[in-house]
Amino acid sequence: MSENHFDIIVAGAGPAGLTAAIYAARGGVRCAVAGGVAPGGQLLETTEIENFPGFPEPTTGPDLMMRMIKQARRLGAQVLQEQLSACDLSARPFTLTVGAKKLTCDSLIIATGARARWLGLESETKYRNKGVSGCATCDGFFYKGKTIAVVGGGDSAAEDALFLTKFAEKVHLVHRRDQLRAAHRLQEKIRANPKVEIVYDHVPEEFLGGDRLETLRLKNVRTGEKKDLAVSGAFIAIGHDPETAVFGDALKKDAEGYLVTDARCATSVEGVYAAGDVMDPHYRQAIVAAGTGCMAAMEALKYLQEKKG
Ligand SMILES: Cc1cc2nc3c(=O)[nH]c(=O)nc-3n(C[C@H](O)[C@H](O)[C@H](O)COP(=O)(O)OP(=O)(O)OC[C@H]3O[C@@H](n4cnc5c(N)ncnc54)[C@H](O)[C@@H]3O)c2cc1C
Repeated sequence: MSENHFDIIVAGAGPAGLTAAIYAARGGVRCAVAGGVAPGGQLLETTEIENFPGFPEPTTGPDLMMRMIKQARRLGAQVLQEQLSACDLSARPFTLTVGAKKLTCDSLIIATGARARWLGLESETKYRNKGVSGCATCDGFFYKGKTIAVVGGGDSAAEDALFLTKFAEKVHLVHRRDQLRAAHRLQEKIRANPKVEIVYDHVPEEFLGGDRLETLRLKNVRTGEKKDLAVSGAFIAIGHDPETAVFGDALKKDAEGYLVTDARCATSVEGVYAAGDVMDPHYRQAIVAAGTGCMAAMEALKYLQEKKG
């Protein structure tokens, strides 16, 4: 086989993809990772990580991801700083366009992650990691006894608001409509929780403060009136977009675009596995992504073994 052929190619170099690469390389097969322009994934966007096991003191997202890249490379995986831009899963071996090259592989592991939706305000970017967060599970702990806001009205926003009441003294749930979209059961819990105040018919207009967020300025969508909330944190919970565009309709997806897998990370195409946030609408945590990355690689290795007979 040519040097452009790999037993396993992993698409995406976040915790899922790099863990898959570590297991694939240790499984003794030829493995390449299409790592995109900045290998490392979503954790490159964050500062403190306190919930990844093995780090008694907080580490940073970039540090954790650089360690994973180093580990995958040391074990023999080729971590390429190239984007996967096209993919033919209709014939075997699979053909992938990675950067300027055509690569082929017998098994593909998709770990392209998901992108949190943001509001798109300039001040939101300014205060990201300085009060503005896209992950309640990750950052809720930092808001003990504080007043915060959650933006959104669906299940995720309602779940985040309830989760955050464990830490925060008060949670404003800001929703652009006059009723929540969240499941009835969640709405009841929200209404029964004295720490949550729902602010209907409002959208964030600006995030204000000094070094960190201090005020969330809202606009009433009906009257145009402005209203300031004094908050030290604002959690944006308006959904995620799984990164699956490059696979077109080749693989089964759910209604929200997440790749559908069985309990062993197998997708609808034999030999193609998925791991991490691209197939996980529920947990969206680095340790879960790493766990499913490990599962996908073990299944891919088994598939290759069985294929060889
Ligand atoms: C600000 C922030 C803070 C967070 N904090 C924590 C925390 O404290 N603890 C925790 O456990 N989790 C945290 N998370 C969640 C965690 O980052 C994700 O659950 C985890 O990164 C998912 O890993 P993944 O490998 O599935 O995907 P990702 O990390 O999203 O990695 C996927 C990678 O694939 C790349 N990619 C996409 N398409 C292609 C393509 N066509 N070709 C090549 N590459 C491609 C993407 O650009 C990305 O680099 C945080 C997330 C954010 C945004």
